[in-house]
Amino acid sequence: MRSSLTTVSIEIAARPSRRRRISVLGATGSIGESTLDLIGRNPDAYEVVALTGGCNTRRLAELAILHKARLAVIADERCHADLKVALAGTPIETAAGEAALIEAASRPADWVMAAIVGAAGLKPTLAAVRQGTATALATKECLVTAGHLFMQEVASSHTTLLPVDSEHSAALQVMADTKHDLIESVCLTASGGPFRTWSRAQMAEATPEQALNHPNWSMGPKVTIDSATLMNKGLELIEAHHLFGLPPAKLDVLIHPQSIVHCLVTLADGSVLAQLSCPDMRTPIAYSLAWPERMHAPTKRLDLAALGGLSFEAPDSVRFPALSLARAALAAGRSAGTVLNAANEVAVEAFLTKRIGFLAIADLVEATLEARADLAAVAPSTIDDVLAVDGESRAHAKTLLGRFASRGASG
Ligand code: NAD
Ligand code: MG
Repeated sequence: MRSSLTTVSIEIAARPSRRRRISVLGATGSIGESTLDLIGRNPDAYEVVALTGGCNTRRLAELAILHKARLAVIADERCHADLKVALAGTPIETAAGEAALIEAASRPADWVMAAIVGAAGLKPTLAAVRQGTATALATKECLVTAGHLFMQEVASSHTTLLPVDSEHSAALQVMADTKHDLIESVCLTASGGPFRTWSRAQMAEATPEQALNHPNWSMGPKVTIDSATLMNKGLELIEAHHLFGLPPAKLDVLIHPQSIVHCLVTLADGSVLAQLSCPDMRTPIAYSLAWPERMHAPTKRLDLAALGGLSFEAPDSVRFPALSLARAALAAGRSAGTVLNAANEVAVEAFLTKRIGFLAIADLVEATLEARADLAAVAPSTIDDVLAVDGESRAHAKTLLGRFASRGASG
């Protein structure tokens, strides 16, 4: 393990004995709801500072009342009036817009869950990191798009960064006290998604409804589509590289359809250590919430005898080219991850709104990377540099949508 995750254990040892102050960015999403489910089971232990949502005003207001939040922030400014009405008569403060999200994330808290989907989460998550306590990171796009700079901010603010992605949480649990140079490889598992056994011809006709029907996990739409293309595992390789400081050659992917084993770590003596649990994000969230201790999570317990067997297979990079694109971006470094992530966000949105077909998602990402090699080559020195590359990549990917609209539908 890199020293950042080792040093932070010293910080958390000073945890106050009063109620822990918690904020949840992306409270109305799948990870946000799972986090608040855990918090709501032990309300005396936590005090909710701020909850944020994108545009689901009704749910944000319900959650803010339920958890007695001090502040509720909606990202979409057009929804602020509705939020004010929904929270009228309560002591809960309201605000809207990006600056308000950042302000909410900056409010003193002992633990912040960063679970805004996509690069939209970068600035609020950085604000949480900079206020310098513990940040549980679900928004993998922060590391994909701004990796080194993001980790520099983590180091300089002495914050505890706790991965929430199940594979990275598993890796952290397994590697906790292992010397970095004794780790031979870290293998992230992937379910393979709903199209694991589909041919390219079948995938060419796949609808958003089919792609959203994940076999094991219940997640928000963007990460569910990323799981179907395997881009999610590619993003996770980049995430693991930055989190654990491991070179790409030590990072691997294995398809494991049951989603029980989340990560396998091979050590220098040939031992392979793994973490197993039923596919429920409340397990890794609970690990990040209680770290460095443990807490109860109300998840289904693993019954291996009932399950009968666990299977593993190599990923098929021909049927799932997104994985190779992400690997190439990881190897290229600089801003390749930023371009890849931005184009992927545009492509996933276009697929969900039926403007392009399923196979066109990876095609669009590849075409954007090819067309904007200039952007991918930028060595960013500030977060503003990252955001500029992100914006230009998105704009370029959007200009390519027309080209892929027909090709995507026919495959
Ligand atoms: P989701 O779509 O269910 O929720 C996203 C949250 O972000 C919602 O609260 C939404 O309102 C908010 N949001 C959306 N756009 C926003 C914007 N522009 N500004 C501010 N807020 C905005 O997503 P999710 O499944 O909870 O995933 C969140 C993050 O966690 C993603 O980065 C995903 O990759 C990661 N993650 C999710 C899971 C999972 O099981 N859901 C597992 C591992 C990692
Ligand atoms: Mg994951």
